[in-house]
Amino acid sequence: MAKILDGKAIAKTVRAEVAEGVKKFTERYGRAPGLHVVLAGEDQASQVYVRNKEKAAKEAGIAGKVHRLATTVTQSELVALVRQLDDDPDVDGILVQLPLPDGVEDGPVLEAIDPEKDVDGFHATNVGKLWSGLPGLVPCTPQGCIRLLAEGGVSLKGARAVVVGRSNIVGKPMAALLIREHATVTVAHSRTKDLQGVCREADVIVAAVGRAKMIRTDWVKPGAAVIDVGMNRDENGKLCGDVDFASVQEVAGAITPVPGGVGPMTIAMLLDNTLRAAHAREK
Ligand code: NDP
Repeated sequence: MAKILDGKAIAKTVRAEVAEGVKKFTERYGRAPGLHVVLAGEDQASQVYVRNKEKAAKEAGIAGKVHRLATTVTQSELVALVRQLDDDPDVDGILVQLPLPDGVEDGPVLEAIDPEKDVDGFHATNVGKLWSGLPGLVPCTPQGCIRLLAEGGVSLKGARAVVVGRSNIVGKPMAALLIREHATVTVAHSRTKDLQGVCREADVIVAAVGRAKMIRTDWVKPGAAVIDVGMNRDENGKLCGDVDFASVQEVAGAITPVPGGVGPMTIAMLLDNTLRAAHAREK
C-alpha cells in the first residue's frame, strides 16, 4: 500500500510557516505583504478558487484585495488595472485568475504584470529564469508538487520522472523543477506514443492532464511515486484526479489523493510566493 502524501496536512504546515514569516515582515517593515487578485467574469470554478485564496491569504495575515470585474471587461481595461497595481507600492503580488473571459487574450495581460510581483510565475521573465536556473518566482502548483515529494521522502536525484501534460502552468514548469532536482525527465502529452509504457518506466509520475482516472494500476511501476495534479469530475460528478487512486495506491510507493493532495499545496505556495516577493521588493 502506498504512503499517502497528505497535501492538506503539509499545506497547513507551509501556511503556518508563512504566517510566522508574514508576522515578522509586518513588524519589521510596518506593513503587511499585499496580494491583489484580479478576477474577471463569472467562471464558477474560478470564483471558488479565488474565495479560497482570499481566505487563506487573510488567515496568514497577508493584506490585499480581490478586484472583481464583469465578463464584459476589455483587454485594455485589464492591462490598465494590472499596470496600476504594478505602480502601487503596497502591492507585492499580482495574480490574474485564468481563464479570462472570451475575447481577452491571456498573454498581454500576464506580460503586463511586473515580474517582481508575478506570484503565479507565468511571466516570460520568470519562465526564462526558471529554465536558466536563476532565482525568480516559480509557479505555485509545480512548486507544491516538489514540496510534497520532499516531505514524502521521495528522492529525485537520478530518478526517472515522467510528467504527463505540457501546459505552461503545470507540465512545463514541473519538468524544469524536476530537472533542477537532478531527475531525468520525460514530458509526455496527447501525441506521445505508448504513454502507458512511458509511464511504466517512471520512478516518479506527475499527472497534469485533466482526464478522470486515466492513469491506472498497470501504468505504474511498483513502488513509484505518483503525484496527481488533475481535477476532474467522475461519472457520478465526484471530484477526482487523473489517477485511478483506488487501484494505483495498491502498487505505488507514494501517492497524492484528490481532493487533499496538490490542490491545498497550490494555495500554500501562493502565500509563500507573496511573502518572497514582498521580501525581494524591500531589499
Ligand atoms: P491543459 O489542458 O492546459 O493541459 C493538459 C495537457 O494534457 C496537455 O499538454 C495535453 O497535451 C495533455 N493531454 C491531454 N489529453 C491527453 C492524453 N489523452 N494523453 C496524454 N496527454 C494528454 O491543462 P492544465 O495543465 O492547465 O491542467 C491539467 C489538470 O490539472 C486539469 O485537470 C486542471 O484542472 C488541473 N490543475 C490543478 C491544479 C491544482 O492546484 N490542483 C492547478 C492547475 C491545474 P497536448 O499539449 O498535446 O494537448
